[in-house]
Amino acid sequence: MTFRTLDDASVSGKRVLLRLDLNVPMENGRIADTTRIDRALPTLGELIRKGAKTIVLSHFGRPKGGPDTENSLKGLAGSLSASLGIAVHFAADCIGPVAAEAVGKMQNGDVLLLENTRFHKGEEKNDPAFVAELARNGDLYVNDAFSAAHRAHASTEGLAHVLPAYAGRSMQAELEALGKALGNPRRPVAAIVGGAKVSTKLDLLANLSKKVDFLIIGGGMANTFLAAQGKSVGKSLCERDLLDTARDVVEAARAVKCQIVLPVDGVAAREFRAHAPSRIVSVDDIGDDEMILDLGPKSVVEIEKLLGVVKTLVWNGPFGAFEMQPFDAGTNAVASVAASLTAAGKLVTVAGGGDTVSALNQAGAADRFTYISTAGGAFLEWLEGKVLPGVEALRVK
Ligand code: AMP
Repeated sequence: MTFRTLDDASVSGKRVLLRLDLNVPMENGRIADTTRIDRALPTLGELIRKGAKTIVLSHFGRPKGGPDTENSLKGLAGSLSASLGIAVHFAADCIGPVAAEAVGKMQNGDVLLLENTRFHKGEEKNDPAFVAELARNGDLYVNDAFSAAHRAHASTEGLAHVLPAYAGRSMQAELEALGKALGNPRRPVAAIVGGAKVSTKLDLLANLSKKVDFLIIGGGMANTFLAAQGKSVGKSLCERDLLDTARDVVEAARAVKCQIVLPVDGVAAREFRAHAPSRIVSVDDIGDDEMILDLGPKSVVEIEKLLGVVKTLVWNGPFGAFEMQPFDAGTNAVASVAASLTAAGKLVTVAGGGDTVSALNQAGAADRFTYISTAGGAFLEWLEGKVLPGVEALRVK
């Protein structure tokens, strides 16, 4: 390990600024999947046992640079308390007098959650003045948020330059597991990229195609590629101003002999809601008033066949709007085949991303996967071979 870890830190009685990723998926105001909280527990538990004063920093959602109730972390303090079995205190600001007063009251072994770091514009700008404000409350810095490590923000990167910095146990486990499974992967390698964050993920695909033999494109992402082929995708989620980018990805993949796999059919509905009336439709036959909300059965069979051939599968993004039945069927079917092949020792499966993990849990497949990363964007950038600023800052020089 070329990173400083908790093994190298002396934390007893120290104020430890612990960066976690508490940006858990929510559904109707409730936590839909607790994986990110569960992954934070080893580091939190260790810091409590060792008598540190643990001050938790995290972002939540995408606030517009100021406080709002929807993106407050306040509700997460209760979930952390329940998981840890001790009271977790909360301060309504991550800097300034509110934070300082709460930190000042802490005893050894206490845990304090500070409000959403993204409520300050300095967070995403990695503003040195904001970094200094954050650093004022800590003696050392532990980063356990691999899933936020692709961003050079104040709490994910800046702090590592002004305080003694260490990787937390979850960050350490992610780096070790990803390196082991994907550092020198068994070939052929397939990647599934689906989901709805089309504009953020599209740019990664050209690089990713250089690393994998098959690029299976699903979810909302696939519609942009189908539209780029001149197909009519009706009311489907589709980034029409990115059709050229999609064509560039196809060209880039062709140049490196990576095969792009797109759906041949889908499940289409007129409304975006659970149990909306739907029909199975060829991708050549989508009505103007319809939207594709899941993979169709022919596409499922094609992908399942492909999984029988490949030796390593990486997965980010569901194939459909899996939160709503029956549009979870495609994701569930592919997930359970991948899980069975993994259990039989025929396939190495690594999946990442908040919604992906929640979809694989829902499909009952996650615990048979080789490794589940909590990271989505960071996971994809790591796969691309990019340097992750939050990880780099922890490296022993
Ligand atoms: P991401 O965060 O990019 O992994 O996207 C996950 C989200 O993509 C989930 O909330 C899914 O409901 C959504 N999704 C997947 N496929 C589709 C689709 N065809 N149309 C609309 N939303 C989709």
